Amino acid sequence: MKATSSGIDEQTAAVLDALRQRHFLSEEQIQEVLTEQEKTGESLFHLLRQKDWLNEDDLTELAAVCSGIEFIHLTPEMVDSSALKLVPPETARRYGLIPLRIQSGKLVVAMSSPLNLSVRQMIAARTGYEVRPVAAGSEAIRQAIQKHYNVENLTRQDIVSMRLKHKPAEEKKHTPARQAVRSADAPVVRLVESILTGAIDSRASDIHLEPQQPDMKVRYRIDGLLQNALEVPSSVQRQVVSHIKILANMDISEQRLPQDGHIALEQQGKLYDLRVSSLPAVGGEKIVIRILDSQTGLRRLEELVNESSDLEKFRSLLSNPYGMILLTGPTGSGKTTTLYSMIQQLNRPEHNIVTVEDPVEYQIAGITQVQVKPDIRLTFASVLRSILRQDPDIILIGEIRDEETAEIAVSAAQTGHLVLSTLHTNTAVGVIPRFLNLGVAAHQLAGALLGVITQRLVRTICPRCRHSYKPETEEMRMFADADAPTVLYRGTGCGDCRRTGYLGRAAVYEILMMTPSIRRLIVSGASEDELKEQAIQEGMKTLKMQGLSAVRQGRTTLEEVLRVINMRER
Ligand SMILES: [Zn+2]
Repeated sequence: MKATSSGIDEQTAAVLDALRQRHFLSEEQIQEVLTEQEKTGESLFHLLRQKDWLNEDDLTELAAVCSGIEFIHLTPEMVDSSALKLVPPETARRYGLIPLRIQSGKLVVAMSSPLNLSVRQMIAARTGYEVRPVAAGSEAIRQAIQKHYNVENLTRQDIVSMRLKHKPAEEKKHTPARQAVRSADAPVVRLVESILTGAIDSRASDIHLEPQQPDMKVRYRIDGLLQNALEVPSSVQRQVVSHIKILANMDISEQRLPQDGHIALEQQGKLYDLRVSSLPAVGGEKIVIRILDSQTGLRRLEELVNESSDLEKFRSLLSNPYGMILLTGPTGSGKTTTLYSMIQQLNRPEHNIVTVEDPVEYQIAGITQVQVKPDIRLTFASVLRSILRQDPDIILIGEIRDEETAEIAVSAAQTGHLVLSTLHTNTAVGVIPRFLNLGVAAHQLAGALLGVITQRLVRTICPRCRHSYKPETEEMRMFADADAPTVLYRGTGCGDCRRTGYLGRAAVYEILMMTPSIRRLIVSGASEDELKEQAIQEGMKTLKMQGLSAVRQGRTTLEEVLRVINMRER
């Protein structure tokens, strides 16, 4: 098609052609901008951008077509892995581009801003290939990046290349630039890097590297559950372990004794502290890496506690000038995170807060934190005694495990200090017999205790693939007849949630508040059941009630609550 009226320049003609061919606009809209163009003398493209008739992708397509650049409807399948390797993921994300393939000696790159010459030149310099740009929508590019630059894909390519290492390399013409890229990215170094960054990308809390035949298993703990991440050929197992140990400042020649170390890692502007531990096992050293991220580790109480009635109880407990607040729950139930958020709530200049921990997980400004070191006789009890001489207002004891610590905690709580600590019991009322077993007198415990919080973490439904369904009769039976829900929710599984249907976790709390009647029951030696009965009568919501309430609200699934909470109890 040729320009219809005279006086239209070449670019305008091309834009008009493209607009008509693609049916982007109606003929009236086209006439409207043409009239405006005559009046203002602005470029057609500029006017279209102002109009808001076209979305970003259409504009990209239009700009590309006018400059003689091909526009493609990008799908992830169009990306060739050999081309992908040439451009690092950060560059791809930053400039909204993804390499597609190598074609007649040129690197074909899909770009959301294909006219950006300096980016094209930068890619050419880095890869050693001349760049042939094609235009694609920014959302399509983002999706392709997400699919291809995820750790599993990248690492699998590395692993395949390791397995192929013994086969003769094919003849290739290297340009110097490409050789430089290769030597800097030695496969083992890259593999370790992708194991670490991949764990952070998938929000893992721990990485497990387990020596096994024929392959070393790498697993990530995500939302509390271990998931297979990848398998590393045993031929490079030792190199991978050694490289991690070097990064963590550990002794690589020592393979028979357990060791600890840590790696500081920055990813996307966030700092992570990776605690590495090695354990000599049959078949090689097992490495476990705990990932501590200051941002998810230190959260405000308001972010953790969903129910406003729970939040009120937390605040009321923390407003006491002295006494003991205990947190219980199994390992991995999120006690430490809650404890830290409570401490942050109390962290004010007028308070002298001292903690004794094993280990100190997060450092908080304005607080004195002491790490227990039993090998030099720095135990919970001995540190506590020294702390009490330092005029503290608030004391956090990482965990109460022995009689001595229990006794000091109770007496500190009775002598004007606010004491926060954790214990291993399954229910809130379970704390009471546990404390009595540690040799604390019932009347002392009743006098010192302010409240007990027990908690569990349940995985929350992925918001992207969440949908409602009609519950089965079996499921309805879990709820009391009066408030059985008519719909429940679950996730189908999608790319965001690694096909699990869950994304992230939330805490469910059972909070036992001390009241005069509960105190009397403790002193009179009442049983756990009697205590629980009384607490429920006075408004305590049990883990089961809270779990079912989270299900009813569509925050989690019934399966998840059944997995995490003992539903046989009240
Ligand atoms: Zn999902």
